Amino acid sequence: SETVERHEFGAEVGRLLDLVVHALYSDREIFLRELVANAADAIDRRRFEALTDPALTMPADGSIRIVPDKAARTITLSDPGIGMTKAELAQNLGTIARSGTRAFTQSLAGAKPEDRPSLIGQFGVGFYSAFMVADRVEVTSRRAGSDEAWTWSSEGAGSYTLAPAERAEPGTTIVLHVKPDAEEFLEPIRLQTIIRKWADHITVPITVAVDGKDEPANEGTALWRKPKSEISEESYTEFYRHLGHVFDQPWATLHWRAEGALDYTALLFIPGMKPFQAVEGERESRVRLHVRRMFITDEANLLPPWLRFVVGVVDTEDLPLNVSREMLQSTPVLARIRRAVTGRVLTELKNRAKDASDYAKFWANFGPVLKEGMWEDAEHRKDLAPLLRFRSSAVPEEKDGGWTSLPDYVSRMKDGQEAIWYLAGDDAEALAASPQLEGFRARGIEVLLLTDQVDAFWPERFEEFEGKKLRSITQGAADLSKFAPEVAEGDEPADLAKLLPALTEALKGEVAEVRATDRLVDSAVVLAASAGGPDLQMQRLLRRAGR
Ligand code: ADP
Ligand code: MG
Repeated sequence: SETVERHEFGAEVGRLLDLVVHALYSDREIFLRELVANAADAIDRRRFEALTDPALTMPADGSIRIVPDKAARTITLSDPGIGMTKAELAQNLGTIARSGTRAFTQSLAGAKPEDRPSLIGQFGVGFYSAFMVADRVEVTSRRAGSDEAWTWSSEGAGSYTLAPAERAEPGTTIVLHVKPDAEEFLEPIRLQTIIRKWADHITVPITVAVDGKDEPANEGTALWRKPKSEISEESYTEFYRHLGHVFDQPWATLHWRAEGALDYTALLFIPGMKPFQAVEGERESRVRLHVRRMFITDEANLLPPWLRFVVGVVDTEDLPLNVSREMLQSTPVLARIRRAVTGRVLTELKNRAKDASDYAKFWANFGPVLKEGMWEDAEHRKDLAPLLRFRSSAVPEEKDGGWTSLPDYVSRMKDGQEAIWYLAGDDAEALAASPQLEGFRARGIEVLLLTDQVDAFWPERFEEFEGKKLRSITQGAADLSKFAPEVAEGDEPADLAKLLPALTEALKGEVAEVRATDRLVDSAVVLAASAGGPDLQMQRLLRRAGR
């Protein structure tokens, strides 16, 4: 007669279980991610082995089934994957194969609470997270290609048992006996929500039983993994809407596969409208990182903050499935992917910018965000500059949405004009009417009108474009004497020799200096900033910020 064998866990496993269960209490829902990831891995392995041994081929309708049972207080997960032999059950679930508990313990102790969940995966102890929600776990498994099935069972303290079992098909069934304080996980809706969050794009169908009926819980297709030719525009749009929680059409869809030095697939969208979040909310990119289809995180900063409006997925083969938060921050793989993906988005913008009215739609939504890169991203400043668009004293609203670019401005510069002139303020209409512009307008010199908050900052860091200095017309004395006014001036030049010192005296403490200017035509006076200090708009913003 066959008997139940009892085995002691190594001392290591006991301590580790204790750690996992107690240190990660607030992130208990990740048990489902870990078990589903294991099931998906097992299915992948079976598919792979079936390539050379057709007898192992998985049934076409193979899925990962999750069945919560409130009466029995159990959650059952089953998969048609590769399965485990008796020896593999003992080896994989009874010992710590990959790295020692000590390293795990130390890392856990040193990690911030929010970093702890990823450590579970990193140390190859994902299975043990089952004990966060269960006080007993039974794993019944039958290795593909074998008739034998075994049940591994443990209460997570000290020992486990192995006993012969029955299983009609190869694969693995895990029964979690849910702890009293984890009853929330017996709710199908709770399980569905976790699956949607963590495993939506696992290609194997995942079902959650609701009232005895298996309901699909994941989308099940990694759209980005399909060849472009097989994806309809509607599918792209649907996926974009799902990812971005929006209902518009994407302005741009970028889908490509990189192979070679870097191996990744990217599917990115530039929204067709401006979501509140992208501009006013957090600055981090939310592009999702997947590793071999499995969702890892949307906090990998796959794009710089000034491209945070881009939504999408990057799926790579170059990272382990159990990548940790630390690794995400330090791995050169991600840095290289980041650079490549950023470059690809910039190329797309450059191409689309050739169609001025099309690009104007993008610019109206995300121009101010893109400009942040001019302020903070030295590496990309040069690439960004030609992509910028501006209102201008010389471009009417009707033309291409009223936008112009630095290259266009430069092509219109007057002979002998050395600077690209701009005027920054809150409102293009007010700027266009500003007395500051008079002298420039009278001489036919174009002035860019910068109306975004960020415009007060970035020109300072971008001193020149194609050798032309970028200068605020409110900053210092603009020497316009070498340009003849294009309109006739009837008035005699006023004799200012006496007036200027008198005004300087009268305004003492209010202004540093009162001087003559050729910047004005109709107005009598205008405020100017000193040449070395911040320009007027910058001063206004600094005042508003209370500095
Ligand atoms: P990891 O997945 O990082 O290897 P886990 O603790 O999650 O670590 O799982 C340990 C091992 O147990 C896996 O490597 C795998 O060999 C085995 N295993 C776990 N779940 C399954 C399953 N559903 N089917 C087959 N093997 C499994
Ligand atoms: Mg695992």
